[in-house]
Parts: sequence; structure tokens; C-alpha cells
Amino acid sequence: MSKLKIAIQKSGRLHDDSVALLKDCGISIDNSKDQLKAHAREFPLEIFYLRNSDIPQYLEEGVVDIAILGENLLVEKQKNVNIIEKLGFSKCRLSIAVPKRFEYNGIRSLDKLNIATSYPKSLQQFLDANGVSCNIHIITGSVEIAPNIGVADAICDLVSSGSTLFKNNLKEAEILLKSEACLVQYPGISTENQQILDDLVFRIRSVIKARNYKYILLNVPNNKIDSVIKELPVLRSPTILPLAEEGWSSLHAVIEKKNYWDIISNLKAAGAEGILVVPIDGMMV
Ligand code: AMP
Repeated sequence: MSKLKIAIQKSGRLHDDSVALLKDCGISIDNSKDQLKAHAREFPLEIFYLRNSDIPQYLEEGVVDIAILGENLLVEKQKNVNIIEKLGFSKCRLSIAVPKRFEYNGIRSLDKLNIATSYPKSLQQFLDANGVSCNIHIITGSVEIAPNIGVADAICDLVSSGSTLFKNNLKEAEILLKSEACLVQYPGISTENQQILDDLVFRIRSVIKARNYKYILLNVPNNKIDSVIKELPVLRSPTILPLAEEGWSSLHAVIEKKNYWDIISNLKAAGAEGILVVPIDGMMV
């Protein structure tokens, strides 16, 4: 039987979330990540653990059918592959940062500077598009220390919380692109493997969707049901079930995860009691 081949990062920031996503899709992996290849149990999937920067090449050559990688890497490697789904983790941005004391007055301030980066192509593209010329200094690690040790005037690097910039006395000057982990596909995938991929994508979408919602159960006196429902921004209409206790009902609904603490305060104020909020494993809607 044919197996779908997926590349995931061998080690690094994307590894754990990639494995967790597959696990949430009901796909557990047999071998440890010390192996180059592993097989999934209960699903026709072969996992290749690869170096992050090598993944686009393996994908382009069709060694693997799909991969989980950072969107920024596709831009840097200039690969035109099909993004099937953005996965919602490893969110970051590629930014130019300058020393805090540097008087930054827009892109022109970068003219003729030495900029250290591990992402020279993305940076060059940005500079060309803005008609600015700089010296690009390629560094593979710890780019953030370059201005402090006098190697560069500014840096272009990935930023998520901004704490690395802060610790190194740098400030963000320009955002070049935003990135997150995504599922990408080799264009020449076989028909057989495309079917397996469709099944996997269905699972991934339902897991990602479920991560943004919660299931809520609450007890409400019957005379307050209308006012409680007004405070419940439900996906569809809530379910109302009578409680054994006369005059009370239980309301069940799916609500968006964001702001749910505020929603709960409003529900309590409207008369809800015994509120339970539970995670959802998958949403096939
Ligand atoms: P790693 O090989 O572990 O450095 O992972 C690099 C990938 O993680 C990048 O290609 C990004 O897509 C993603 N990433 C997310 N946030 C950051 C960050 N703050 N710094 C570096 N990489 C990040």
C-alpha cells in the first residue's frame, strides 16, 4: 500500500508542534526522532526528519509529498510550492532592527548600512523593492549580537516576542514579512497519495479549527434563558436541556476561545451558574 511522505523538522522550534499536530490527528509515530525516517501507526504516513533549511529542496524534488515548515523559509529559498494550510504555530516576523540609540526615520535611514542576516534573499528583495542599497553581511547564528560587537549597523532576523531584540538593545524598524508554520505540497503528488493527503488535510483542518473553540455547559433558571442566550456568541443555536430540578435548564454551546473569560463574566451576570468549559478535540463542520 502506498504511503504519504511528510518532512518535518528534525529538531528546533517547529518539531514539537508538528509532532503534536499529527498526534492530535490520531497519528502517532513509531520511531524516535534520532532516526531519519519513521512510520506512523494507524495511518499510511512515512515521516522524514530533516534539517529545516533542507526541507524546501526535498519537497521540490519530490522526495517527500508534503512538509511542515516555516513560511519564511519558502520566501528565502524562493520556492514556489503550494501552501495547503497555515497551521497557526511558530508565528514570527522577519524584521530589520537597529540599535535603540539609532535615529530611525523610515527606510531611507537604512541606506548604505551594513545589515547582518541569515536571510539574505528576503532582505535583498525588500531593499530592492524600496530602492535602498545596503551591504548584506551573511551570518548563520546569533545575528542579534552583530551590532554590539561592531560587525554590523543593523540586523534582519526573525522576531516573535521581541525579547531577544530588547535584551540586545535593538528596536524593530521594519517588518519585511509575517510567517507561521504551514503545510506545503509537492505539485507532482501521485493520485493515490493525493487521496491520503485529502484525508490528512481533513483531520488537520478539524484539529486546527477545534483549537480556536471551546464547548461550554451552563445551568440557567428558565426565566433567565433569554438574557443568558443574548450573552452567548454561539457558533449555532445553543442546545437547551431540562434539568431534573424543576425550573432549571442546561445550555450547551460551542464558543470561540478568544475572549471567553469576558463571555463567562457576562453569562454569570445574566444568571448562569455551574459553568463548565471543556476543550474540543476536533470540529468536522
Ligand atoms: P529553528 O531551525 O529551530 O531555528 O527554526 C526556525 C524556524 O522557526 C523559522 O524558519 C521560523 O519559521 C520559525 N520561528 C518562529 N519564531 C522564530 C524566532 N523567534 N526565531 C527564529 N525562528 C522562528
